[in-house]
Amino acid sequence: MSNALQTNSNSQFDVCIVGSGAGAGPIAYELTKAGFSVVVLEKGNWFTEEDFVKDEQLARHRVFRSQIEDERHVLEEPTVDGKWSSDTSAQFWGGNIVGGASNFMSGYFHRLKPQDFRLVSEFGAIEGANTVDWPISYADLEPYYAKVEQIVGVSGRVVQHPHLEPRSTPDYPLPPTAEHPIAAKFDLACKSLKLHPLPMARGILSVPLNGRKSCEYSGYCGSYGCHSGAKASSRAALLNDAVATGRCKIVTQAKVYRLNTNGAGEVSSASYFDARGKSIDISARLFVVACYSIESARLLLASKGEKHPNGIGNRYDQVGKNLHCCAGGTGHGVFKLDRLAPDVASRLKIRGPFFNRALQDWYVIHDKDAFDKPVKGGTLDFVFDPPSPTAEANSLKWQRGNLLWGTPLKQRLKAHFTQSRDFKFEVFCDWLTNDECYVSLDPDEKDKWGQAVAKVRAGFHPHDLKVAQYLVDKGVEVMKAMGADEAWGNVFTSPTSNLVAGGCRFGDDPKISVLDKNCRVHDCANLYVSDGSFMPNGGSVTPTLTIYANAFRVADKMIEHLGGYRAELG
Ligand SMILES: Cc1cc2nc3c(=O)[nH]c(=O)nc-3n(C[C@H](O)[C@H](O)[C@H](O)COP(=O)(O)OP(=O)(O)OC[C@H]3O[C@@H](n4cnc5c(N)ncnc54)[C@H](O)[C@@H]3O)c2cc1C
Ligand code: SF4
Repeated sequence: MSNALQTNSNSQFDVCIVGSGAGAGPIAYELTKAGFSVVVLEKGNWFTEEDFVKDEQLARHRVFRSQIEDERHVLEEPTVDGKWSSDTSAQFWGGNIVGGASNFMSGYFHRLKPQDFRLVSEFGAIEGANTVDWPISYADLEPYYAKVEQIVGVSGRVVQHPHLEPRSTPDYPLPPTAEHPIAAKFDLACKSLKLHPLPMARGILSVPLNGRKSCEYSGYCGSYGCHSGAKASSRAALLNDAVATGRCKIVTQAKVYRLNTNGAGEVSSASYFDARGKSIDISARLFVVACYSIESARLLLASKGEKHPNGIGNRYDQVGKNLHCCAGGTGHGVFKLDRLAPDVASRLKIRGPFFNRALQDWYVIHDKDAFDKPVKGGTLDFVFDPPSPTAEANSLKWQRGNLLWGTPLKQRLKAHFTQSRDFKFEVFCDWLTNDECYVSLDPDEKDKWGQAVAKVRAGFHPHDLKVAQYLVDKGVEVMKAMGADEAWGNVFTSPTSNLVAGGCRFGDDPKISVLDKNCRVHDCANLYVSDGSFMPNGGSVTPTLTIYANAFRVADKMIEHLGGYRAELG
């Protein structure tokens, strides 16, 4: 496809970005610094640090998310009798405000590893999975990982281990965040098991950076907005700087419902509904979709036009296909405080600093007793659950299916909140793409504007469960080695609603991909998709660092596409 721009140079903006989360921030940041005018259309509101108070009820409040009665998702999951359930009360909203879900993330910021870009070449095809190698390599993305770590501020310490990815920088730009005393106990247990405990890289400032304050260890981090600006949200770390250039306009309460295309098949404008439900069109030279995978696929599918009768980029029925979540699981270790020496017990009670440890010893599993050949494994992150006292108390009233009340309930609450400490681990491994995991437009359910909502079919491959169970068992072993009184774990059997990617994967062959290797839609010369939709597989880590890195890469391609840096900037 030629780089020459056919689009109208009288457009209102050089670039129009739909969505303002992790996939959007780097584009706005880089394009405005390069001298281009950018408009960001975000369907939610614009909150700032002062709005993010640490209140469990408010944190989960719908002001930060799309309201399910206005806009929902339909979720289909496999049932035990081989059919599909259909849940119309489902929702995958992680954050619908300026900065998107990145405001609420925990900020685990691992890189992918070279083998994640070459799953088929490294491990062979798996029957029933649609796995493909990426059209770019780890080496292509590595400079952008380094760039993100520097710009948004990643705190950590590189430790040598068997699966450490190659790095152009010897260490993270910022020192690790403060650690809870449990980390020392963890390190000892891991060393006794001959494992390599890693201080987890976090998208959280351990020291101030570019006018943002460092972490105040509020304890209310994952699921909560950050009141200090330390969390590397797209809003705090990138969009504020883009706006400060004077070239970025953020339009809030702008729900984009269609991209309109011209006779050449290029996008000429984006149509959105404003807060009053009025439809408004915005024109630009280049368009970027970054609505979070499910909604990005939905928008492309809904954008039918003369040249795109099945939706933009959907000539080969690929839009929405090859969606993936994070496979894996979670586990707990409970330490009863009265069984510990008083000084140890009081140290375990400390709240605020992070547990912050990870294990990647099984990123590739070489275990002939479990798998007949080496298989791709995953990451274990040892963390604290976001504090949710009301939700926890609510769930404690149930014990083995019986409702507790009176003294037994009081004793249970007391034991949970004051006499023990619960430490958690999360396991992340590949959710293999397959024919039964995709997004389509629901034929019946409509949102409040009358548009078809996204239907998500979430079929998974049995291989994922096997790998996940293997890793969960390893996590339980570590918890036991740490001396936990109780340790258990479970694999995920439902999709992780906050960690979805794919749906518009990139590739060289338009018949099995939606985007080219620069994340430009194959048959639409001025449209890019820059969120996690591009990922053919998620790797065995949470995806946001990779979404950021790739969006910085895409920004470079877009600047090239627009003819390079604006001359007047020098
Ligand atoms: C509680 C929680 C914890 C998490 N922890 C981690 C973690 O530790 N590490 C990690 O890597 N990731 C984590 N994540 C995931 C991370 O937040 C996402 O990977 C990331 O935000 C995805 O970026 P995105 O740009 O695709 O989508 P988002 O950040 O969700 O942004 C999409 C934006 O687009 C807007 N939008 C959607 N449709 C439209 C439309 N039609 N018109 C206009 N605007 C629209 C949305 O309102 C939203 O603001 C977590 C997420 C949650 C919710
Ligand atoms: S723990 Fe730190 S990064 Fe997380 S919300 Fe609190 S101040 Fe922000």
